[in-house]
Amino acid sequence: MRKISANQIITATGDCLNFGIVTIDDSGKILNIEDTGGQKPTARNIEFYEGVIVPGFVNAHCHLELSHTKGLIPPNTGLTEFIRQINLTRNLPADKPAAIQAAHELMVYNGIVAIGDISNSSETFLFKKQQSEISYHNFIELFKLSDFSEKQIIEYAENLRHTLQEFGLSGSLTPHAPYSVTPKLFYEIRNSNPTDSIISIHNQETAAENELFTSQTGTLKTYLESRGFDYTVFEVSGKSALKSILNFINPDNNILLIHNTFTNEEDIKFAENYSKNIYWTFCPNANLYIENRLPEIPLFLKNNVKICLGTDGYSSNTTLSVLEELKTIQQNFPEIPFRKLIEFATITGAKALKFDKTLGSLEIGKSPGLNLILDFDFELNTISKKSNILKLV
Ligand SMILES: [Zn+2]
Repeated sequence: MRKISANQIITATGDCLNFGIVTIDDSGKILNIEDTGGQKPTARNIEFYEGVIVPGFVNAHCHLELSHTKGLIPPNTGLTEFIRQINLTRNLPADKPAAIQAAHELMVYNGIVAIGDISNSSETFLFKKQQSEISYHNFIELFKLSDFSEKQIIEYAENLRHTLQEFGLSGSLTPHAPYSVTPKLFYEIRNSNPTDSIISIHNQETAAENELFTSQTGTLKTYLESRGFDYTVFEVSGKSALKSILNFINPDNNILLIHNTFTNEEDIKFAENYSKNIYWTFCPNANLYIENRLPEIPLFLKNNVKICLGTDGYSSNTTLSVLEELKTIQQNFPEIPFRKLIEFATITGAKALKFDKTLGSLEIGKSPGLNLILDFDFELNTISKKSNILKLV
């Protein structure tokens, strides 16, 4: 048993306890949370840390499978060129297992306890089966950028899901993006997942993605057509990418919309009206890396929606750290309160991935992991550029 205290404890359920004490058992399960009324504890059996204790982080969007592409794709090229580069680097000869292991270990070190991980193959499955420090939800991601029929794509994906199940791992079939999935494939994915499933889709990552749906023009369309995608299967909707495809997705699923860099208020209202289970997932450092632009996060906050965070993969990020994503948000949108940032990084992601029974907040009976934020700016009551993580549990 350990009794742990710090200057502040943020529970992610609304409480901020000055000099609170968290008691955990040997497995990391929380036995008690004590509000000392702001009194610094003095008992000898209490571990006291200078800093702020928060729950373990949830990384709602990652591509562990692409860990070998670190540093290979130049930044700020825009999404169309980025997709072309992904195709060039995905199958380069590399020690992929070593890169996957190193990326996973870095995320453990960075206080991440759960990940929504995108898989296009089974390359990471065996690795994940062999470790348990991080809870993974596996999104088997599908797109129609090949000569394979929708039926063949689903068969391939069902085989992957079968392998996941044999390994005792959780997973669901998921569409890649509005521009890379045909209506028929959307339909097949919807039919293959149970109603309580979790879906993730890259959304409105570049202006050309909306352009493709509003006017059937743009660089993205030109490139993807050169790879064989037939856009005549889509109606020219005249509507944004999100509005054009959301009704292909089961509204009863948890729906993680990833990036949302070019999402406007109308899109937000449309999606929230469509489903009560929309999780707006931001990967700010990846957005800066690819498009050099950030989503308008305060607009989402104003609309009182569910927000979580991802690191994306090493193709579009220099590190895999939820704290670094928080720093980017804090520096660009300093008006967002620190407690909100921590909710993005913990409980909302845990709910999105359905890990919130055990993870995401400091509550008795949960085993969420404890992160200590060092070099916290107590004057401004938020993280600073220098802030760091020490994983306590
Ligand atoms: Zn992604």
